[in-house]
Amino acid sequence: MTSLKIFNPINKMKINVAVSAGFCFGVKRAIDIAYKTLRTKNKVYMLGDIVHNEDITKEMDKAGVKKINRLVRVKNKILLIRAHGASKKTFQRAKSLGYTIVDATCPMVKEIHKIAIINEQKDYKIIIIGDNKHDEVRGIIGHLKNKTIVIDSNKKIPLKRIKKIKKAAVVVQSTQNFEKIQIIVDTLQKHIEDLRFFNTICKPTRTKQQELKIMPLKNAVMIIIGSKTSANTKRLYEISKLFNKRSYWVQSKDKVKTRWFKNARSIGITAGASTPSSTTKEVIKYIRKIT
Ligand code: SF4
Repeated sequence: MTSLKIFNPINKMKINVAVSAGFCFGVKRAIDIAYKTLRTKNKVYMLGDIVHNEDITKEMDKAGVKKINRLVRVKNKILLIRAHGASKKTFQRAKSLGYTIVDATCPMVKEIHKIAIINEQKDYKIIIIGDNKHDEVRGIIGHLKNKTIVIDSNKKIPLKRIKKIKKAAVVVQSTQNFEKIQIIVDTLQKHIEDLRFFNTICKPTRTKQQELKIMPLKNAVMIIIGSKTSANTKRLYEISKLFNKRSYWVQSKDKVKTRWFKNARSIGITAGASTPSSTTKEVIKYIRKIT
């Protein structure tokens, strides 16, 4: 008996992966520093997760980087400062409690600290556009002497306070969406006489966001890969959704649904700055299988 193999030349589904998909420079660097530090055989501790991604957190834990929620007195332990950075107080407290500090703060986050500190010394009120609860924003605040104003949305601008300010310098959380901050800065400009604006959105974020202004228009379906706890993945999804309603945010291949790809000729894929390439590869492999 012979068997018939059916080939389908009509299936021309294309998968286009964003050049910038996945780990950004700062996250890669922090993970490399963590592994290098582990080679010293000392215990390595970290306040919180190294990145907002469950797979990487588990991997790090297995390798020996332990997450802690607060600092306690120790001997011969290393505290790894994450890519988001930390407040000055955290550095000082850790040292006083006996930790050796390994600082993996992303250089682009350090640059934001520097800009904010210099402008504060020149008597500018510091305004941060970003998420008040995010560690990066808490870290920036923690390097300043005076009270800062944090604005997360153009709907929540504290106009009463803003109107009293004569001189202000604005810095931005590195992963913010430029369109959103522009609206906020436009409003601030109307009320503050001497306003300095530093667009501190980092280069990897700009590249990712730029790609997302083109890819959703060129692909029938967009898949954004990253943890639901990742703020930068959330923003990528929001931008993609603005340009293409068929945008979906998945954490892993298990969340991908076949029905999303009905009649789709091309699929665009990107991944957040904390998404490992292994997860992206798995999702792509799975999409190829089901389409
Ligand atoms: S998102 Fe930007 S600032 Fe944040 S760690 Fe990555 S490269 Fe650094």
